[in-house]
Amino acid sequence: MNDSGSRVFVFQKSDCIVPGDAGTLAGIDGARFCSAFPGLVPYRSPFLSGGGFLDAVLLEDEAAIPEGWKALPLRSVLSLFVSSGGGIQGNNDILRAYHLVQWRRASLYCGRCGAKNTDHPEELARLCPVCGGLEFPRIAPAVISVVTRGDKILLAHNVRFINKVYSLIAGFVEAGETLEDTVSREIQEEVGLEVDDIRYITSQPWPFPHSLMLGFSARCTGGTIQVDGKEIEDARWFSRDDLPGLSQHGSISRYLIDRWAAGTL
Ligand SMILES: [Zn+2]
Repeated sequence: MNDSGSRVFVFQKSDCIVPGDAGTLAGIDGARFCSAFPGLVPYRSPFLSGGGFLDAVLLEDEAAIPEGWKALPLRSVLSLFVSSGGGIQGNNDILRAYHLVQWRRASLYCGRCGAKNTDHPEELARLCPVCGGLEFPRIAPAVISVVTRGDKILLAHNVRFINKVYSLIAGFVEAGETLEDTVSREIQEEVGLEVDDIRYITSQPWPFPHSLMLGFSARCTGGTIQVDGKEIEDARWFSRDDLPGLSQHGSISRYLIDRWAAGTL
């Protein structure tokens, strides 16, 4: 590895591994990485947004973290980007790095013949040296929607949320659906409401494990809230001056809610 001036993102499970003295949101200096992890070669991905490359490594689940380093949940790191002024787009390099290392671990073997895959020398792909099969990073589109009724927003508490926070309705796109179909179906399934005026707002890579979140707004046209009880355990209409606890900054969910609250959606 050519470590001069390079930046390395280090992950373990869903944590970002950083030196205790931090200041490392944009990755760890290559020379520092090499001295902390001797012999470990990161994956170097081309085609970074700015035209450069990106080095990333996923430590084995049981690997020891060097003394003086610490593990930060990646999702909490995302909120640090926002508070440092980077906005949600400032997260994209670290999200890309995490997506790619997870993808490489999931594509160790060829899905057709079972041989061990290698990295394609020129493309962002895994290459089977036996049958020539290519595997590209998997990206699963999902929609997330700001549903409004008059001057109120629909917010829901998902059974998977650890804290008593509320967020937007979201779900994966299914085969044969348009994005608008998915928005309507998810809202109908999870809270029993009808919507129209579905409009695209923005997107965010969300590699947990390999999504691309597409943010929409939609207007409620009918129905009464009826939560499905499986994914959503509570959902209500909230006004701007009476918002509940929200998920942390750094996600498109919080970004869209904040924009709606500021009247700039
Ligand atoms: Zn193969």
